[in-house]
Amino acid sequence: MPFPHSVREEALVKAKRRCCVCHEFAGRSINVHHIKQEADGGANTLDNAIVLCLRCHAEAGHFNPKHPLGTKYAPSELIKHRDAWFEACEHGNIQDTSTVEVKVKRTYTTSDLHKYILLFTFHNGNENAVSGWKLDVLVPYLFKVSTVEFDTYHDVNVDGKRYNKFQTAGSDVLYLGESVELTDSNIVKIEYSIDHDIYHSARVEESKIIWIFYSSSEPPIRGELSWEELQQF
Ligand SMILES: [Zn+2]
Repeated sequence: MPFPHSVREEALVKAKRRCCVCHEFAGRSINVHHIKQEADGGANTLDNAIVLCLRCHAEAGHFNPKHPLGTKYAPSELIKHRDAWFEACEHGNIQDTSTVEVKVKRTYTTSDLHKYILLFTFHNGNENAVSGWKLDVLVPYLFKVSTVEFDTYHDVNVDGKRYNKFQTAGSDVLYLGESVELTDSNIVKIEYSIDHDIYHSARVEESKIIWIFYSSSEPPIRGELSWEELQQF
């Protein structure tokens, strides 16, 4: 039996239709999930309900203590996420939860040369619509970089280290809950390569990539990719 309508509605309102685990606004792509499965005697009550986006729901649904693979969500952990998020929604200000997701994707490999592209996705979690954005990516000067639709600024100094700065911008209008790919694998592209020599110098310097996302509607969002995240040698 599914949850009664009243329980679903109460859970969705308490979570502000955001995922209790990753806090993304999920709109219609949201589930009210049984923390303890019905087959195991879980009740159809608010106590046993958690609001999850599709991605987290898939992860939570596959929890099986007999076959641990990765770190899945245990029911006891889900309860903690749910309680913390309900609490935050009730008392906290959760307006500024826009996020920038960054993925490093390897596109070319030989024993001496690796190439990677950076995939940036922005998610607007703010009530205010975004009507324009700009992305700065600071890449250690040692790395060889090729870009499409990025402007280049050479030799930028941050905390005593040398970077080349790459900048791109867009004029997408994005409402609450909408996402846009800021870069992809060909139209707006940033790719760096690391060979044997670069690897050894960059490892000594603990090189990292710094990025800053500016939008029309909120303070800049800044992040870093550590040396460990930047290469798979
Ligand atoms: Zn989620």
